[in-house]
Amino acid sequence: MRFVASCILAIGLAACATAPGAPDPSGGGGDGLRVCPGRVANAPASDNAGRVRGFSPIVQVAGASLLRAPVEGCISSGFGPRRGGAGSFHEGLDIFTRSPRVIVAGGDGVVEFIGSQRGYGRTVVIRHNARVKTRYAHLSSYGRSLREGARVSRGEPIGETGRSGNATAVHLHYEILINGRAVNPLAVGK
Ligand SMILES: [Zn+2]
Repeated sequence: MRFVASCILAIGLAACATAPGAPDPSGGGGDGLRVCPGRVANAPASDNAGRVRGFSPIVQVAGASLLRAPVEGCISSGFGPRRGGAGSFHEGLDIFTRSPRVIVAGGDGVVEFIGSQRGYGRTVVIRHNARVKTRYAHLSSYGRSLREGARVSRGEPIGETGRSGNATAVHLHYEILINGRAVNPLAVGK
């Protein structure tokens, strides 16, 4: 899968607003996962073109083989504590796509939940094994044939990005959960 910096066209939108001194996003060849231009909370280390340093698309997590980023887009918010709100902690990775874009299953598994969750909007949860799940939030639509209890394979479309729930821009909020606890999709396994 190629990861394209779709954020380049999004200058001015909330999730990808530019800031003075932001890296020029136009210098790369289009592969690799990138951080959106502008101010990005909890951004991972990146090179001058915004490419995430040391990015590997697939990680082994507690017996599951998972994608670190299951949609093409740029990182508009990383995992970790957020400034401002006391106790606010971002339990996932936000991947901005500007317009709705296909999200794929992060790994092989069984669809555990399809529906609305408070704040998350339209959400899909996939169980990969007894310990590992992934959550996909703020969707605009679900995959047409997606059913709870159905098996899915890594890379299979499960829906499209949107801004349902508590979201101001079209993006995917992606969580990797081990025994119910969220871990950083970009750092786990390193
Ligand atoms: Zn998020």
